[in-house]
Amino acid sequence: MLESESFSPNPYLYSQVSMIDLRSDTVTHPTPEMRRAMAEAPVGDDVFGQDPTVNRLEELAAGMLGKQAGLFVTSGSMGNLVALLTHCGRGDEIIVGDQAHIFTSEQGGPSVLGGIAMYPLRNQPDGTLLLDDIQNAIRADDVHNPRTRLICLENTQMRMNGAPLNTTYLNEVRGVADAHHLKIHMDGARIFNAAVALGVNVKTLARDSDTVLFCLSKGLSAPVGSMLVGPREFIQEARRARKLVGGGWRQAGVLAAAGIVALETMIERLAEDHANAKYLAESLADLPGIELDPSAVKTNMIIFRLAPNGINPAQLVERVREEQVLLQARGSRQVRAATHYGVTRADMDAVITAIRRALRS
Ligand SMILES: *Cc1c(COP(=O)(O)O)cnc(C)c1O
Repeated sequence: MLESESFSPNPYLYSQVSMIDLRSDTVTHPTPEMRRAMAEAPVGDDVFGQDPTVNRLEELAAGMLGKQAGLFVTSGSMGNLVALLTHCGRGDEIIVGDQAHIFTSEQGGPSVLGGIAMYPLRNQPDGTLLLDDIQNAIRADDVHNPRTRLICLENTQMRMNGAPLNTTYLNEVRGVADAHHLKIHMDGARIFNAAVALGVNVKTLARDSDTVLFCLSKGLSAPVGSMLVGPREFIQEARRARKLVGGGWRQAGVLAAAGIVALETMIERLAEDHANAKYLAESLADLPGIELDPSAVKTNMIIFRLAPNGINPAQLVERVREEQVLLQARGSRQVRAATHYGVTRADMDAVITAIRRALRS
């Protein structure tokens, strides 16, 4: 809990109690530098393409990812939706992981709004989809079949302990896509976590995907917004799709300003979040009643299971809340903890103590 700064990243500072909030990395607050940049940002009407701060963010993001153009959108879900509406027509099919956010957590938006079919493949523990599975899912050109159009990958793969997909694997998927004239969209909500964890430039990770979505509002700690990047013509079409779903915004430069600071100052420090997650995972794995392989934790996401004969996730969450620790229960067995800018190494020790007590009581 960093309370020395004038704008504390701790979301509970303004309530009386200080909580250690590990429910998600979305709980991060903007940094003092972001607040200043937001206050001073030059703005214009972005639907007219005339917000200079939005334009600067879109250029910066595209450049960093090695793509021609960028589009600032309200959320990761909107960015994925707009990307899929642009890649696919009605009746087209995407190949996607069964644990992917696009498949599990966006209300089936591509199907609801775009008439796009989804073919889910089992995500492996390391976050990948098997090349063989992808190969087998690609439809033959036959009047019975939907048309396979797009492969969607998620990097990091959130539900698999935030597993980062490496460049070798991404390149192999590109090979399969090229052989069948398919495009690749990467849901890179946490692509910077992947780049930092793998020690590679984010451009290298983005290279084999046609389009990439990433979030400014998670570990990078901006208050609002995500970026979709890709080829210039694609982004022009995506701008139409964004307007279609009500995402044309006006003086959005006040938000884009925070996104620029996020990209300029918040990437390298993600290593700290990963070290905290590793430390927490190693300590939790030693506790009786917790099932967790700490070697699977490579970024800022820990998903552990509770032994079937002990307390359940909802009970654990309730007990640790009394000790000012917030975790997320996921179904009947799993609990999630995400590390981020708003928590420190000392907080990790407090979390371990709280969980140890909760399991004993
Ligand atoms: C959070 C997340 C999204 C969606 O972002 P929102 O801004 O919450 O809509 C998409 N994909 C993944 C993997 C995410 O973790």
